[in-house]
Amino acid sequence: MVKFDRERGSIMSLTAPGLTDSVPADPSDGGALFLSTLTASPREKRVALTVLLFSLLVFALLAPFARVPLLPIWGFIPCYESWLVATDLITAALLFSQYLSFNSRALFMLGCGYLYVACMTVAHALTFPGLFTSTGLLGAGPQSTAWLYMFWHGIFPLFVVAYARFKGRDCVSSVLPRRPRLPLLAAGVGMVALSAGFTALATVGQDLLPAIMDGNRYSSSMSLVVASTWATSLLALVVLWFSRPHTVLDLWLMIMIGASLIDIALSAMLNGERFDLGFYAGRVYGLLAAGFVLLVLLVESGILYRKLVQLTETLRRLTAQDALTGIGNRRAFDGSLDLELRRAMRSGQPLSVLMIDVDHFKDFNDHFGHVEGDCCLQMVAKTLNVAAVRAADMVARYGGEEFVALLPGTDETAAAQVAERLRSAVAALRIVHRGTLETSQVTISIGVACLRPAWPVENPNHSMSSVGIDLVERADRALYAAKEAGRNRVVVAAEPLVG
Ligand code: GH3
Ligand code: MG
Ligand code: MG
Repeated sequence: MVKFDRERGSIMSLTAPGLTDSVPADPSDGGALFLSTLTASPREKRVALTVLLFSLLVFALLAPFARVPLLPIWGFIPCYESWLVATDLITAALLFSQYLSFNSRALFMLGCGYLYVACMTVAHALTFPGLFTSTGLLGAGPQSTAWLYMFWHGIFPLFVVAYARFKGRDCVSSVLPRRPRLPLLAAGVGMVALSAGFTALATVGQDLLPAIMDGNRYSSSMSLVVASTWATSLLALVVLWFSRPHTVLDLWLMIMIGASLIDIALSAMLNGERFDLGFYAGRVYGLLAAGFVLLVLLVESGILYRKLVQLTETLRRLTAQDALTGIGNRRAFDGSLDLELRRAMRSGQPLSVLMIDVDHFKDFNDHFGHVEGDCCLQMVAKTLNVAAVRAADMVARYGGEEFVALLPGTDETAAAQVAERLRSAVAALRIVHRGTLETSQVTISIGVACLRPAWPVENPNHSMSSVGIDLVERADRALYAAKEAGRNRVVVAAEPLVG
């Protein structure tokens, strides 16, 4: 709200009208918009902690029954693994798209991790004994699937460790990598090659590895192997924990690793064989673990779209708004003039333009200073805006201490009346002007020009700019005449016919 002490000509408050709406976040500050780069709030930490405690509670309830044998449900494995592949591929795609947005190596590493898991899950399903063939595809033997499970769960946490290490060093920016497709291609080829290598080792090279399965039961070497797999997940959890501040993504990664630790504990440590309760429960934890990060990224996409719409609207508004006075700016006026000219040409309705200039404003500035000059301009703008009452009327700042009003459907007689109303409204502000002998208060001069199309033009497809320029120039000449005639007055330009 503008407050101007009329007696002393001094400012009490300097907030521009129309500018009191919330100021948008810096649009260039893209990183602050995303959950993957946004520091987690205490509420988000509480939600994550609740999920973790709930998972631990369910784990504690299930653990004593982990060895209870259940029926083998062969459809469970392909369902579970298809879901995992789909989830991991979508997560990888979202992480890579964020990598491209922020040029973040941390998100790139995490995307690679999810891609690796998707590839390993496919290999795990193909080699699962009894699923497609009795021993499994790809030349699998009795050890293959179990080893693939270990390579899958043991290597993925290392990608999380890489994510955590890069996170602190990444300088989040909206500058795209120079050749963005190359790293993505390398990630695709690299992850397929890595998982193919481990698959080859677990299938054709399984004799090189210690035997961890004895039929459907675990052998004695299993505990050591599974302990190392568990250790890499624990390492990832610890590294993430110490890579502060935690982002929202970090929180859910930690939850995901927690669920993955429970998955390994239930389905490879506490249980005794395939298809017992621990085996199934562990897989369900695995499914949930894969879903957590995807859920966060999907929520993030929704938030992102909402922010994008808001920012676009704010930018659209700001580009049409004068920063000092909060009314329309020259760009907004030019746009409206073009639109109203076409409308006037089509309808045959008159269109008037008022050019408005503050009298002796240089003297005002010289006497009171620019800051109070600005405040005076804000008051004049607000008054003009209020005094132009019709919904279709538009008042804009044309530049400096000049304003312009566009009055659709208004002929020169009505426009002259509006101009007179604006002039007296500004005079009624009684803003003290001590800079000149000619006036003791701030006044305005107005030039009026009207366009009256001789007949409606059905399709005015020729350029409106020359007609608009001519209309504004006539209003400007009338303003000049008003200045010449002594200021603080309205002069109407002579009217030529257009059509
Ligand atoms: P006239 O009655 O003939 O219009 O005299 P004038 O002094 O108003 O006209 P002139 O064009 O000589 O001066 C315009 C002044 O408006 C000069 C400039 O300092 C001032 N002005 C233009 N834009 C701004 C602004 O954003 N803030 C302030 N405080 N002054 C401005
Ligand atoms: Mg001027
Ligand atoms: Mg002036």
